[in-house]
Amino acid sequence: MNPSKLKASFYTLGCRLNQAETALIGNTFRQKGYELVEFGQAADVCVINSCTVTEQADAKCRQLVRQVLRKNPETFVAVVGCYAQIGAGALRKINGVDLIVGTQDKLRVIDFIDDPVKLPEPQIIRNKMTKVPFTIAMETMAAPTTRANLKIQDGCDFMCSFCVIPFARGRARSRAFWDIQREALQLVEAGHKEIVLTGVNIGTYQFEDKTFLDVVKMLLAIPELKRLRISSIEPTTIPKKLIDLMADSEVLCPHLHIPVQSGDDGVLAAMKRLYTTAEFLQFIEHAAKRAPEILIGTDIMVGFPGESDAAFQASCDLLQNSPLAYAHVFTFSERGGTAATRLKDKVSPKSKKARSAILHRLSEEKKHDFYRRFLGHQLRVLTEEQNERGQWVGFSDNYIKVAIPSEKLSANFLVSVRLASITEETGIGELLVSDKSEVR
Ligand code: SF4
Repeated sequence: MNPSKLKASFYTLGCRLNQAETALIGNTFRQKGYELVEFGQAADVCVINSCTVTEQADAKCRQLVRQVLRKNPETFVAVVGCYAQIGAGALRKINGVDLIVGTQDKLRVIDFIDDPVKLPEPQIIRNKMTKVPFTIAMETMAAPTTRANLKIQDGCDFMCSFCVIPFARGRARSRAFWDIQREALQLVEAGHKEIVLTGVNIGTYQFEDKTFLDVVKMLLAIPELKRLRISSIEPTTIPKKLIDLMADSEVLCPHLHIPVQSGDDGVLAAMKRLYTTAEFLQFIEHAAKRAPEILIGTDIMVGFPGESDAAFQASCDLLQNSPLAYAHVFTFSERGGTAATRLKDKVSPKSKKARSAILHRLSEEKKHDFYRRFLGHQLRVLTEEQNERGQWVGFSDNYIKVAIPSEKLSANFLVSVRLASITEETGIGELLVSDKSEVR
């Protein structure tokens, strides 16, 4: 069969690292001559890059597989990644799944699809995950219309008691320093203006004598790179010098997502987190003082075993009374094999739901407060896509979502706007440059 006639579609569940990896997997299919089509369109192969962080993520993956097969029973279905790693038993029971590839081999899923002919039984590839540094030997071929995710690290050694990631993704390992530089240069040359660093626990990056800060400095030294953004980073791993760089650099975005998980020290200890709320607060207050425009977001988990009303209130107070600008709210669900499954004092589903709703509301308010602070300010926005009203939507350096009503723009323009107003979901930006010339 001639692969140049074949079509492949992809779906990513879960985190930004998965998004980065789906892009890499997509490139391997392109290189083999496949045409990449939107998920939902008829395709010869469909790859689902799965997530297993919660029970809902597992269920969503199974539901997607069934959806693909219902629509197009002839599609060769491959499930790769975290849920494929630890949920292969459940996945293989779904009639029509052809290939299940765990974490170690997911990026080379194409190697297991010589000829996408449906199989009576799924092939399962689940090799032991290594601890050694890695490289990613492939060309970047994605069109430079959005931010580029750059994977620098994988796995985690922290073993938080609720988290299945160390089992799904293995122990911490870092990408070779020179290999990160190689891909970054390639991305910039391909036209990407913004790079977002991704990994499971990027602050623990260590390759020979190079640390996370060295990676950041090396990337900031690339002259044509306009923006560098750091995605999620664990509280105890952030070098203070990073905040100095954010305050002083035009390229390093003043934006951090630091998962706190709870505002109660007892819950944090039971979660086996490595800091207290006071330490967390001290750090983010320092960051907000040193880099006043910084946006700091967080993850908060509700319903962890032993989370009393007072402990939940402490999480609300932390979000309310700190420089945090939003919280992604997660509801605790037991993951097989994790230490938290043995904890008592479970929180009822009803309380979990109510707590989640309260924190969601609070987070929305905080985000609006943060946006309001910048009304009338000049912001630099990288355009990504057009919304249904024809406005160009993108993010400011400090991650304010801005819609720009202008017909003159297109994707991947770095423009200067004045934040004129705020709607439910975005800020509205007035273009400050009337032609397509970009600003730094
Ligand atoms: S730091 Fe904790 S929550 Fe984050 S991936 Fe590692 S074990 Fe999971």
